[in-house]
Amino acid sequence: MNDRATVRLAATAHEDAVTLPAVGQGTWFMGEGLAPRADEVRALQQGLELGMTLIDTAEMYGDGGAEEVVGEALAGRRNQAFLVSKVYPWNAGRDSAIAACEASLARLGTDHLDLYLLHWPGGIPLDETLEAFERLREAGKIRRFGVSNFDVDEMGSLNALPGGGDCAVNQVLYHLGSRGIEHSLRPWQRDHGMPLMGYCPLAQGGRLRRRLLDHPEVTALAAERGLTPAQLLLAWAVRPVEGVRDLIAIPKAVQPDHVRDNAAVLDQRLDDEALARLDAAFPAPRRKEPLDIV
Ligand code: NDP
Repeated sequence: MNDRATVRLAATAHEDAVTLPAVGQGTWFMGEGLAPRADEVRALQQGLELGMTLIDTAEMYGDGGAEEVVGEALAGRRNQAFLVSKVYPWNAGRDSAIAACEASLARLGTDHLDLYLLHWPGGIPLDETLEAFERLREAGKIRRFGVSNFDVDEMGSLNALPGGGDCAVNQVLYHLGSRGIEHSLRPWQRDHGMPLMGYCPLAQGGRLRRRLLDHPEVTALAAERGLTPAQLLLAWAVRPVEGVRDLIAIPKAVQPDHVRDNAAVLDQRLDDEALARLDAAFPAPRRKEPLDIV
């Protein structure tokens, strides 16, 4: 991954630092019969071969069906992927999180996750979830833990708990039409050395959903730069901020040309003029906004 766009996860007390592709692969709506299963499996394998080696899934997706698709895609090549899954908030208790993780591992056909996320903040006290994550880590079932859909106050509460500072990432909605995290969450994450994962990078969800792929400025600029609109959105999402890339976009794609286009973004860079034009059309927030979610 010499010059390809990457994001670094810091070393922990137990794990070396790891360099990940800045564009990975989402799996929401896989394993639900929307596309032939063989196509979904092949798409993930194609993405792996093209360098999108981070795969994001969750026990929620397809009620475990997406994890089974990922397991099929990774059969015989588990070591090629950095595998991320998520636990429902109501399964994130001291013992229930262990059981949920073991069920995910069985569906995925692997003995460990590289990263296990709390899917969104819930009613179970965070210290219980942290205890379960630590037990899973000690047992070798997860390498790192993280969270998802946590706003800045929630990150502060997590960070104040014993072990909370070991959180590896926060996965949140982020696309050109929904930049709210740039006001305070993203700076907080940066200050604490915790990268973000950006979901719905092609704007397929969220309160602030907009039709970005056919927005006139997006289509015009993409054409001028020889990119597809989706590539422009992804290259924008993973652009370095103050010289450092700290966000991994995780588009979901089944169609082979979508997978190919998304992987090509690892080699694409947006120039300052392109970034300025996108800033003008989609301004960064001037004040705190509620965290956008799907
Ligand atoms: P995305 O923004 O990734 O959009 C997915 C859609 O975009 C699919 O219809 C796909 O089509 C299409 N697409 C993909 N690549 C291209 C391309 N190059 N050109 C044109 N269209 C393209 O939305 P998601 O909601 O799937 O979000 C991405 C991932 O983020 C999820 O799959 C999931 O893993 C994660 N996520 C996490 C959440 C959380 O709460 N933590 C919430 C929501 C998502 P096709 O499949 O037909 O190729």
